Amino acid sequence: MRPIQMVDLKTQYQKIKPQIDKAVIDVLESAAFIGGKPVTELAEKLANYLNVKHVVPCANGTDALQIALMALDLQPGDEVITPSFTFIATTEVVALLKIKPVFVDVDPGTFCMDIESVKNAITDKTKAIVPVHLYGQATDMEPLMQLAKAHNIAVIEDNAQAIGCDYTFSDGTVKKTGTIGDIGTTSFFPSKNLGGYGDGGAIFTDNDELASKMRIIASHGSAKRYYHEVVGVNSRLDTIQAAILGIKLPLLDEYIAARNKAAAYYDTAFEGHPNIKIPARSHYSNHVFHQYTLILENVDRDALQSYLAEQQIPAMIYYPVPGHRQQMFAAFDTNYDLPVTDYLTTRVISLPIHTELDEEQLAHITKHVLAFCNR
Ligand SMILES: *Cc1c(COP(=O)(O)O)cnc(C)c1O
Repeated sequence: MRPIQMVDLKTQYQKIKPQIDKAVIDVLESAAFIGGKPVTELAEKLANYLNVKHVVPCANGTDALQIALMALDLQPGDEVITPSFTFIATTEVVALLKIKPVFVDVDPGTFCMDIESVKNAITDKTKAIVPVHLYGQATDMEPLMQLAKAHNIAVIEDNAQAIGCDYTFSDGTVKKTGTIGDIGTTSFFPSKNLGGYGDGGAIFTDNDELASKMRIIASHGSAKRYYHEVVGVNSRLDTIQAAILGIKLPLLDEYIAARNKAAAYYDTAFEGHPNIKIPARSHYSNHVFHQYTLILENVDRDALQSYLAEQQIPAMIYYPVPGHRQQMFAAFDTNYDLPVTDYLTTRVISLPIHTELDEEQLAHITKHVLAFCNR
């Protein structure tokens, strides 16, 4: 059996090695390491895939969120509503800009922002809402957008874990996550569903004015070289990463299907188990399975993780400490009551999921999870 990893990028690379190697060598030979043709080509291909007007490439998913927030011209004291149950980048950039992160709870089924919780958190200082399509499944965007529009609040979708995911509206319209709010952001971190071989990120919008603002912000606040209109940042996707992503983007749907196949194997093995809750599926979203995350009841999670490690099976806790309990936010009001978030942080465990899992590996993983949970 091949060694089991959370994400097997080595085996995936072996399958596309000739194309990737050629793309990288082409960049080396062109010596256009920054701002080369593959960068604009990727932005165009991605805009086409997502059906969105503008794609602004940048250096990573955290920068993408920061640039999106900067484009909204928020002022210190303004509030941004985000889920507490997410990767730290989502909320960190809010605090970095001296804006107050306001944490809300998540839905126990989808692990995504709970819309009722958002409703209760809106104040006259709320300027933006940042839903996170966690683990590869969409937040319920239709009621969220209605709520945001009614209060004139901007929506930035953190789509780092859900690129390629489809959200279905009640009238049957289907849109890619990341293209429903005012702005969407993503990460091309290697382990993401569309990952490069280094850091990378992108921002999406249909809004011409926001797109132009974000391009300027990402480029030292300048549209014309050496003329700087606003304080910006330096955030670029390098040409080698763009060239690699250009090879991988046409494979994204295949990759999503492979992840779903592994997830279906897990579902069949664990469904109906009294102590294991498999990932719930919502009626408005498909799942691209960035993570396959179980909720454990009456199972010692740390002991299970150690037991699996002994069988050479990695498993991860995404995320053990929610945002509202992170020390970095101590300067803000962190007196929150988020029961679902607190419950999930003690109960979730993510199993290996990627494009290269075979049946032998899946059988080994499920056998040992069940052996531990049945004793
Ligand atoms: C990975 C991730 C990010 C940050 O992406 P980087 O490219 O690592 O900066 C932001 N939000 C979420 C939900 C993520 O999973």
